[in-house]
Amino acid sequence: MRTDPLAFLNAELTSLKEQGLYRKLRILEGEPAAHAVFDHKSVVNLSSNNYLGLATHPRLKQAALDAVAKYGVGSGAVRTISGTMEMHMELERRLAAFKHVESVVVFQSGFAANAGTVSAVLTKDDVVVSDELNHASIIDGCRLSRAAIKVFPHKDIDAARKILNDLPASQRKILITDGVFSMEGDLGPLPDLCTIAEEYGAIMMVDDAHASGVFGKNGSGTVDHFKCHGRVDIQVGTLSKAVGVLGGYVAGTGALIDFLYHRARPFLFSTSHPPAVTAACIAALDVLESEPQWMEQLWDNTRFFKAGLESLGFNTGVSESPITPVIVGQAATAAKMSDALFAQGVFAQSIGFPTVARDKARLRTIVAATHTKQDLQYALDMFARVGRELGVIS
Ligand SMILES: *Cc1c(COP(=O)(O)O)cnc(C)c1O
Repeated sequence: MRTDPLAFLNAELTSLKEQGLYRKLRILEGEPAAHAVFDHKSVVNLSSNNYLGLATHPRLKQAALDAVAKYGVGSGAVRTISGTMEMHMELERRLAAFKHVESVVVFQSGFAANAGTVSAVLTKDDVVVSDELNHASIIDGCRLSRAAIKVFPHKDIDAARKILNDLPASQRKILITDGVFSMEGDLGPLPDLCTIAEEYGAIMMVDDAHASGVFGKNGSGTVDHFKCHGRVDIQVGTLSKAVGVLGGYVAGTGALIDFLYHRARPFLFSTSHPPAVTAACIAALDVLESEPQWMEQLWDNTRFFKAGLESLGFNTGVSESPITPVIVGQAATAAKMSDALFAQGVFAQSIGFPTVARDKARLRTIVAATHTKQDLQYALDMFARVGRELGVIS
């Protein structure tokens, strides 16, 4: 018999299990709602990026159904061949108006938007100056570009400035931050980063995946939140989180977008969104613009849940957003706590290395606009019980 050339993977998997880093996928049955059924168990869902509940909003569902009836289920090609439909252009125009920029290009995902843009804009002769906690898709884009990557400690403006200052003035460079950091829930220091980018002639880029639909007017992002209009050259957003559907986009000048139409590899080499996705995204923009109550409820729930966790004595880090980590230290403890909470009807996924540092394992909680106060109070009661049982709080 042939020996399995992939046998070494079993040793890797065993090692993950020994470190408490092996996670089984939880299976969702039914809608991705704030109170949902996973693995046959009804739970308060604190692990979804569906911040505003738009993934199940009737207007989005109807738009998707209508688009399927009218246009079918697939686009048939990449955007640059025959896969650009009028609705793809409409979504890009709508997003450009929403973001107050000249132009927008939509990608299949936020991941593709980041990786495709960074790798298209940069070459091996360029330098990326990047916050240590920036998203993996930015890092992959940097790697694909073969540009040199210089990492500064999380939110450390002085360190970022020093890196920029040490580079030759003629060096092409890009300064990149997340708008909201996905594991900490804190905000990138956008105004200060814009200032040093301007000082040193760097391209300024922000990845607003967790800010889209959450920060700024109608959820238009951190550039609006911090009043940095005109100071950020490349804004990336996602349509997969608060917007409730799937996709990513890049907002910027007409020239940037035209260039990406010609050079961004996911745009050139991967099929465009099906009509249902695009139509639902357009409907989501309608909802963001006409139903402000979802953002208001999101922030009301966020304040309630954060205050509850903090008063119980959990270490919730430095979050400023609806993402609130409960930092417990060891991955095994985080996994145990997550499992115990799940057994009590609360789903808060544990996150360990390499997504966060080895000694910073955590449960990551995200509230949604659609949680009831009873849902959140129940979750807090269970956090209190399980946290005490495991000695995470006293
Ligand atoms: C989720 C996320 C992405 C990827 O977005 P998708 O649309 O899910 O591919 C990119 N950047 C950050 C910071 C994210 O949190």
